[in-house]
Amino acid sequence: MNAPTPTSASAPLVDRFARSITYLRLSVTDRCDLRCSYCMPERMQFLPRAEILTLDEMYLAARAFMARGVRKIRLTGGEPLVRRDMIDLVRALGRHVGTDLDELCLTTNGTRLGEFAQDLADAGVRRINVSLDTVDRARFATLARRDMLPAVLAGIAAAKAAGLAVKINTVALKGVNEHEIPDMVAWAHGEGHSLTLIEVMPLGEVDGDRLDHYLPLDAVRRDLEARWTLVPQAARSGGPARYVDVAETGGRLGFITPLTGNFCEGCNRVRLTATGQLFMCLGGEGQVDLRAALRSDDRETMLNAAFARAMGEKQERHDFAIDRRGATPSVARHMSVTGG
Ligand code: SAM
Ligand code: SF4
Repeated sequence: MNAPTPTSASAPLVDRFARSITYLRLSVTDRCDLRCSYCMPERMQFLPRAEILTLDEMYLAARAFMARGVRKIRLTGGEPLVRRDMIDLVRALGRHVGTDLDELCLTTNGTRLGEFAQDLADAGVRRINVSLDTVDRARFATLARRDMLPAVLAGIAAAKAAGLAVKINTVALKGVNEHEIPDMVAWAHGEGHSLTLIEVMPLGEVDGDRLDHYLPLDAVRRDLEARWTLVPQAARSGGPARYVDVAETGGRLGFITPLTGNFCEGCNRVRLTATGQLFMCLGGEGQVDLRAALRSDDRETMLNAAFARAMGEKQERHDFAIDRRGATPSVARHMSVTGG
């Protein structure tokens, strides 16, 4: 590998393929109060607490990214709202919204939104993503291995009451929720929320074989088209989703197809794990250690060297493959580690 070109402390982050990095997904913890079966095993081995960045270190890292042109930060996990005092980080970052940051968002499973929705809104968060794969209580209890649907629905209602825009993210799973998808869309749109469908990705070992539940979204889309009028939207969020408006419900529906569609050419994001490892691609192994840089005496120099390495290593596209039955995951890390 060629030595990365030294860059100044304020130069925007641009990778080898001329993609500007303006979006940081920050995993505040890998821990979670649910155990969604496609995401992690029941007996998930969480990272040792001593290795996790403090909230102050996460704030410093976020500031360094902002100085290099990052305009949007999404807090994720694991479940971000299970980390103690995590609302302090939201408040600290929220002070930059409108100046250094265009947006501060959060992805959550919703179980603790009842407690935190108003605090999030007060801190400057305007939009959140809530992951919800079913509104059937028994199915939720099986899929998430915890009977917590009522708390999630109460949390979503609290978010709406606090004025947060809510996007529901639903992983489409063959033989699990595939027949509920139209009802999920109708429910979300009826509540005033958009909904995005996601294909299951081969990330980390789980109990059982994810391939059994892999459902390509082109088939789901054909099914929905037989029922409703889907009007394609030109606007992209800068992310991997493609959107349609559903004429009959008046709501927006997104499709994220990491396996059947390539969305890498416009990638503007990097991911920082709770232990300070920077991943340039959800579907790749390349990583750069920011924790050592954050803890060094010459933080700024070390961080800039790490950023230069990261930009030199960001790969052109992900390595996902799901066509080998029984194969080990194409990426060994769980989504809850890298930050979903
Ligand atoms: N706990 C929070 C939540 O569930 O929203 C944030 C982290 S979670 C890892 C982020 C997203 O990743 C969720 O929408 C979840 O459904 C999705 N996810 C987890 N594992 C996945 C996999 N193997 N394939 C596709 N999506 C996955
Ligand atoms: Fe937890 Fe989110 Fe993974 Fe479900 S998808 S187990 S809520 S981290």
